[in-house]
Amino acid sequence: MSVVGIDFGNLSSKIAVARNRGIDVICNEVSNRATPSLVSFGPKQRYLGEAAKTQEISNFKNTVGSLKRLAGRTFQDKEIQEIEKEYINAELVNEKGQLGVKVQYLGEQRVFTSTQLVAMYFTKLKDIASIELKIPVSDVVISVPGWFTEVQRRSILDAAEISGLNCLRLMNDTTASALGYGITKSDLPEDNPRNVVFVDIGHSCYSVAVVSFLKGQLSIKSTAYDRHFGGRDFDQVLVNHFAEVFKEKYKIDVKSNSKALFRLRTAVEKLKKVLSANSQAPINVESIMNDVDVSAIISRQEFEELSEHLLSRVENPLIQALQESELKIEDIHSVEVIGGSTRIPAIKERIATFFGKELNYTLNQDEAVARGCALQCAILSPVFKVREFSVQDTTHYPIKIKWENIPEIPDEESELIVFPKNNTIPSTKILTFYRKQSFDIEAHYAEPDKIPAGINSWIGRFSIKDVVPTDSGDLSIVKVKARLNVHGVLSVENAYVVEEVIKEEKEEPPKQEKQEKQEKQEKQEKQEEQPKSDEAQPMETDNKPEESPAEPTQPKPPSPATKKVKKLVKKNDLPLVSGISSLDKSIIAQLREVEGQMVATDKLVADTETQKNALEEYVYDVRGKLDTIYQEFVNPADKDTFINLLNDTENWLYDEGEDSTKSVYIEKLEGLKKYGNPIVERYREAEERPRVEKLLRESI
Ligand code: ATP
Ligand code: MG
Repeated sequence: MSVVGIDFGNLSSKIAVARNRGIDVICNEVSNRATPSLVSFGPKQRYLGEAAKTQEISNFKNTVGSLKRLAGRTFQDKEIQEIEKEYINAELVNEKGQLGVKVQYLGEQRVFTSTQLVAMYFTKLKDIASIELKIPVSDVVISVPGWFTEVQRRSILDAAEISGLNCLRLMNDTTASALGYGITKSDLPEDNPRNVVFVDIGHSCYSVAVVSFLKGQLSIKSTAYDRHFGGRDFDQVLVNHFAEVFKEKYKIDVKSNSKALFRLRTAVEKLKKVLSANSQAPINVESIMNDVDVSAIISRQEFEELSEHLLSRVENPLIQALQESELKIEDIHSVEVIGGSTRIPAIKERIATFFGKELNYTLNQDEAVARGCALQCAILSPVFKVREFSVQDTTHYPIKIKWENIPEIPDEESELIVFPKNNTIPSTKILTFYRKQSFDIEAHYAEPDKIPAGINSWIGRFSIKDVVPTDSGDLSIVKVKARLNVHGVLSVENAYVVEEVIKEEKEEPPKQEKQEKQEKQEKQEKQEEQPKSDEAQPMETDNKPEESPAEPTQPKPPSPATKKVKKLVKKNDLPLVSGISSLDKSIIAQLREVEGQMVATDKLVADTETQKNALEEYVYDVRGKLDTIYQEFVNPADKDTFINLLNDTENWLYDEGEDSTKSVYIEKLEGLKKYGNPIVERYREAEERPRVEKLLRESI
């Protein structure tokens, strides 16, 4: 079984694996530790990751990036139309309510949804990990920004499933970094928590988490985000600047030409990195458009002045996170920075000034999230023994449940915040309803203006069926179990009817009761510390939309020997129909098949290439040897025929055989080997003979 962590980044993704020696970040096929988050479509195959990057400029309209920001979105989404569209070269379309892209693939026009694109990319990451680990990869933990909503999370989970990955947990990325920090620190306090702030600024977003650590555990105290703040915004500042400079200097409008704009973007990203270490940096782009070569220079100071509107936003999430954590600056032990854009000196400076502290770089800035995910995967997987470390994460948006009122209860509420902001994940809550008919409940984000602009606040609708009155015709007591699971998504797991029965119970000596209660509490606390599997969750907080009759846990005053207590006894489960934003199982199965076909097509193209190379190599290798080492093992007439055949094959390879099929290449090679093999064999025998004779002599 594999233990893999994926940091799914907007620009690039990193993969970490757990091995006996510990956690390693692995390299892809071109030995890079980060793989571009890109997919590209060609006339014969797809190009994923590095291969897509190589294709990007020549296959501009059919290459898609920003995958993470497209997942779970719709075409109409304001953020897609107003922000993301800028960064996508391919045409965006509406595909049955989901966001899709229109591309040319295998010579025809095709539309793929954002979930499918993510799945394609995951297929590639899975492949990279499988090659490295030399086993098929399935179990993974994948990172997502903590601000991701239900639809976005479900889209990533669906994508994982389509690609054949078994996602054990979607992990909020700053939580992953915090886990990596906590598990390696041997000096965490027993009491009096250590509060550490994690700041991650990547390519497209900015996350802050205030985390409090004790020995063997971490809990997220607060989080804050700027969802549209990252390296690409700084690139944009430079793009705008140089577009103006070039307009003036060379009379060209880079922005009128999408390829020129792309070339400029690539160049400014490099320049921006140079500026992080130098006080000025040059830009040179050959033939940016209309055969014009451009060059210019910019100082760091100029860059900072141009970026002031961005830099002034650095403080906001820090203020928010600190406020919400209810801690003071003096309570912060240290500040850990991660993510590529925290290398910009002006950003570092602002963070350090805010906290009045030197920043810490305990974690690998680029790999902390992937490593944390791999650690979480190791904790969840039975394969590795990892030091116990409890991770208490929280949800970023409050969730409410709504229902319709019934005439029998005129003053019933009609909604309830079931999971408030910063509620622990995972967590289960039980709702109690009094009903005599089937009913529906609906889950929504309680503060729609806090979630990303274009995303619907609707989470799901759940129908509780077959509810009937009690035998005496009264309202039945229906319990509904709602769960915010390890992925941070909501599910309603089951619904059942309970019945009130009055039981006589022997009076326990008060002391023992107290002790039992304490023991139970201790046990529960212990279990709560390990929110590992869905089943193991004991946290059944009763949250009742209305007044309930006497609690079974509050016994009546003691009587001499026995007492009467009302007990709620589970009667029967109720059928439950869930309408959620995940794809239907049948659609997932269908998409898996489509993905499988595309994988097979890609594999066939790769195999064909391998066979073609093998044929070509054989021609050159044998032809050369026929004049040298094979010479004495072939008679001259046969040699001439064979050489003619080899020459014909070579010509064919450059002509009609340039683009043939795998089976034809194999057939041609076999045909040549019929001539070649006897010669090679005679040669080998002759080579071996002295050695064998020597061995024989020695053994006598
Ligand atoms: P996200 O977390 O937003 O999904 P990501 O994880 O792909 O994106 P990172 O790899 O953390 O992003 O960071 C990439 C960004 O960091 C890019 O914009 C890149 O230009 C920027 N970056 C990397 N190194 C430097 C540097 N030395 N100076 C300035 N910026 C840098
Ligand atoms: Mg990142």
